Amino acid sequence: MVTGRAPARTSSAHCEKDAGRRFAAALGRKIVFQYRCYGFAGLRFTQSGAESFKIQRTCNSRLGGSTLKIHEYQAKEILAKYGVAVPRGEMANTLEEANDVARKLFAEGASGVVVKAQIHAGGRGKGGGVKVAKTREEAEQYAKNILGMQLVTHQTGPAGQKVQRLLVEETAAIDRELYLGIVLDRATGKLVFMASQAGGMEIEEVAAKTPEAIFKETIDPAIGFGAWQARKLAFALGLKPTQINAAVTFFQSLYKAFMDTDASLIEINPFITTKDDKLFALDAKITFDDNALFRHAAIKALRDTAEEDPLEVEASKYALNYIKLDGSIACMVNGAGLAMATMDIIQYAGGSPANFLDVGGGATQEQIEHAFEILLSDANVKAIFINIFGGILRVDRLATGVVAAARNLNVKVPIVLRLEGTNVEEGRQILKDSGLDFQVGATMEEAANLVVKAAAKVGA
Ligand code: GDP
Ligand code: MN
Repeated sequence: MVTGRAPARTSSAHCEKDAGRRFAAALGRKIVFQYRCYGFAGLRFTQSGAESFKIQRTCNSRLGGSTLKIHEYQAKEILAKYGVAVPRGEMANTLEEANDVARKLFAEGASGVVVKAQIHAGGRGKGGGVKVAKTREEAEQYAKNILGMQLVTHQTGPAGQKVQRLLVEETAAIDRELYLGIVLDRATGKLVFMASQAGGMEIEEVAAKTPEAIFKETIDPAIGFGAWQARKLAFALGLKPTQINAAVTFFQSLYKAFMDTDASLIEINPFITTKDDKLFALDAKITFDDNALFRHAAIKALRDTAEEDPLEVEASKYALNYIKLDGSIACMVNGAGLAMATMDIIQYAGGSPANFLDVGGGATQEQIEHAFEILLSDANVKAIFINIFGGILRVDRLATGVVAAARNLNVKVPIVLRLEGTNVEEGRQILKDSGLDFQVGATMEEAANLVVKAAAKVGA
């Protein structure tokens, strides 16, 4: 059984599921979709069966443009404004800046500092991206090691992510490491506030092996997060009586931050208690709902495109839902569900998809051209599979766009299409009249076989 994560927009989650089921049924395959509400926002799915495949890009992509990710230091700045206690510290872009921050913290009485890699992925501690230093010299050494390193964690994929920024913070005298998270539970359509005593480690693992170790409070949108719920979670965490009130305030501040910023996820792992009875967010992850960013200019400005795949950044400029994958067959599809089914059928035909690309329901010719440019700038691409169900995007308009793009960009790789829907006959005619060498499959299966064959020929 292989698990992976599909790019998802809130609105398309059900459509993906339904479309996936439909196509799976047609193939005589079983696809098990699992919606989980822990970890990160997005749709997780599990596929079983001999032909199952994995969507490998997970946490370091922007999930098809649905969420904005920010760095830990930025998340902590936001939380601090809501009264959430975070350790003293500052972001550093260079070794000099890191030294300055460390010097300042020690001068202000810190007994140690922690040097933390700022990348858009978790698991940095295990990967060597979080180091505690007792002296200024030690801090400098760690900063030197971490800055610029290619940090590999379970969330970055094997290539890792280059560390371009550090957070240097005062260390805390940790007593207990706990977990807190607020996320949308897609099954109930409500936010859920989660807490666990098993903090500091991978919460996905806790959820899989010991789900009873995660306490959950579902939040009624009409009422909000009640103080009684916060107290219930505080007691479930086994906090001391002297910590309960502070914890309730802490949790309520997190909830307020979540609501005010239109977040899609807040995760504090670890949420710590200190030997002197204080509570801190030692780590902080926040992602935001893209659809609400228009009313949060300051948050929108926190985007760090240096953390994102260059092709995905390019795609986001044209509102294309693109995620790069490792295969050789580029896909251009309208609709997230159809895009998933397309990747699936490519795999079924013996090929492997080079990307997920949803051009959306109302793609323009300009968007289609940009989509082509993006697909073609991936050196692994050996063939292009265009799979369109024309609804809002009429097939003739798509065909016109495809012909124009193929001409303008002088596309050399084979293009296979499968077209259905509004004005499909006109669309086919446009392709035929273009004189360009397109292959058209009568069915999705036939087209998939054609494109896999075409890619194999190019590869040979
Ligand atoms: P992540 O691995 O990317 O989730 O990064 P975290 O910020 O959660 O740090 C990983 C681990 O480093 C934490 O679980 C702590 O055990 C440890 N750590 C982080 N900051 C401090 C600190 O100030 N003092 C001490 N002693 N340990 C820390
Ligand atoms: Mn963490």
